[in-house]
Amino acid sequence: MSRIHSLPTELVNQIAAGEVIERPASVVKELVENSLDAGARRIEIDIEQGGARLIRVRDDGGGIVAEDLPLAIAAHATSKIASFDDLEHVGTLGFRGEALPSIASVSRFALTSRAREADAAWRIEVDGGKPRARVPAQHPQGTNVEVRDLFYNLPARRKFLRAERTEFGHIDELVKSIALARTSAEFRLSHNGKPVRLLKPARDDSDHAQRVADVLGEEFLASSLRVEHAAAGLRLSGWVGLPTASRAQADQQYFHVNGRLVRDRLVAHAVRQAYADVLFHGRHSAFVLFLELDPALVDVNVHPAKHEVRFREGRLVHDFLYRTLDDALSGARAGAPRQGLS
Ligand code: ADP
Ligand code: MG
Repeated sequence: MSRIHSLPTELVNQIAAGEVIERPASVVKELVENSLDAGARRIEIDIEQGGARLIRVRDDGGGIVAEDLPLAIAAHATSKIASFDDLEHVGTLGFRGEALPSIASVSRFALTSRAREADAAWRIEVDGGKPRARVPAQHPQGTNVEVRDLFYNLPARRKFLRAERTEFGHIDELVKSIALARTSAEFRLSHNGKPVRLLKPARDDSDHAQRVADVLGEEFLASSLRVEHAAAGLRLSGWVGLPTASRAQADQQYFHVNGRLVRDRLVAHAVRQAYADVLFHGRHSAFVLFLELDPALVDVNVHPAKHEVRFREGRLVHDFLYRTLDDALSGARAGAPRQGLS
């Protein structure tokens, strides 16, 4: 008979990593979200070999005090929530306390941080889940996380990594999608030592137009309609592409809920329905939309990677989205040139 036993910490973290860390872009997502949660205004992302060799994220956020460094890499340890009530009103991107220990269990990991008002920086290294003692280091205020040789100790996962260009493409796409929502932060992305993207900060997070133009090009704005509507505690803003600017691929669809990029079926359905009679079959709409609502009305704790959300009042949200977008598009519909008439 097999007896029941608790799993060693390293293995627990590797199992969690299986859910959260699918590829290099997932690491970038977690690290950049941590930087934003720490109030960073400037985030630098350096990638080597599509992230398989190195992922480094540096920020100028609040940092981590020396005593907390071992906790930062411990499972289920977080500074972001403390109670069930906090979980119901999560205002940060992270809250599960799982990302760093997961990443550190499947890479050669180093975290260097200097907390606000601290007079020294500290560094902690973890090799495939095994932490070393923290040591003093040189670093300005903020945090630097280095993730080398991702999945080096999980050969099956490592084998799954795609071509360097493909993995970097996922990273770039991820940075673009986060940057669209967090316009007051500056983002710099480089690959193999070459700068790829520099996104200058806007005055505040509600100033989206410049960032949208920087990320998606002026053409996107020129061929989109502005959306701005609030009702029943819901607020939708952003841009929807004109039917004439439809795309062969669904490659310009960004929907953020309270600043978090989500892929949600209910949202997708509402958008599709609004476009139903203005898009040709097989064509895809382009949009950048931001939905804001009381955090208590949306459950973000649905999936470890937090791509999905659950709305407490799904019907209400669906109808609000559909009506708002349908309204915005009705102008385009009325003014659409008809074939055969001139
Ligand atoms: P979570 O983000 O869910 O709290 P993580 O494992 O991603 O869990 O991070 C653990 C903790 O480490 C965070 O709660 C935060 O206190 C700290 N931390 C991680 N990254 C940073 C950073 N870039 N700046 C400041 N603190 C950080
Ligand atoms: Mg996190």
